[in-house]
Amino acid sequence: MADPRELPLLGVIGGMSWESTATYYRLLNEGVKARLGGLHSARLLVHSVDFAVIEALQASGDWRAAGQALGSAAAGLARAGANAILIATNTMHKVAGYVEAASGLPLIHIADATAMAIREAGLHRVALLGTRYTMAQDFYRGRLQRHGLDVLVPDAAACTEINRVIYEELCQGRREAGSRAFYRRAVASLLADGAQGVVLGCTEVGLLIGPDDLPCPCFDTTTIHADAGVRFALDGALPPAPGH
Ligand code: GLU
Repeated sequence: MADPRELPLLGVIGGMSWESTATYYRLLNEGVKARLGGLHSARLLVHSVDFAVIEALQASGDWRAAGQALGSAAAGLARAGANAILIATNTMHKVAGYVEAASGLPLIHIADATAMAIREAGLHRVALLGTRYTMAQDFYRGRLQRHGLDVLVPDAAACTEINRVIYEELCQGRREAGSRAFYRRAVASLLADGAQGVVLGCTEVGLLIGPDDLPCPCFDTTTIHADAGVRFALDGALPPAPGH
């Protein structure tokens, strides 16, 4: 029987990459401590995958196998007592349906939390930086649009380079000054096209650039998502899905 004084248990599916899962772990604990003080910390289960296996499935387009892998992780977290699931990456929300079905648990959706933060800031047109899947596809860009947002993405050549930097540098712990400059130029160009702010729509991008590098409001999905996890743990609140 759960101790009624205990916080809900968050099930985190991480390792995509572990560079950002480490940030999530810190932010979730800091967020609970900021609200409750003292020795309080987050109650977490983390299932951290081998990202090489998941990335190979992404690259070959085998989203069914990727979904089954994350679904199986989510089912394990549910059996171990998790009360909600947090997929600690934007891109793998492409298989959110598998995770929800396999676990039967509420999913703290990163795009819903991000859309809520943008709307609360009073913005409606944002630039989106992320993997090539996140910047192009309906599961993410489309979901932000269904929240009533205009979403601008870089041109094809810039998307290719932004995606390369994520997998070849940031997910492998490398931060290159040249890549930071490239990201800043990509953002400047989207601001010139009318974006009012930028979504760091990859959980590693905040390791490269942040508000100090950018002349506009910056929505770091890692921070926003971890905040949403804390809000679920302390208030039982989930970010609303589009249309809710
Ligand atoms: N962590 C990244 C994201 O937020 C990219 C790695 C992945 O493909 O999951 O999209």
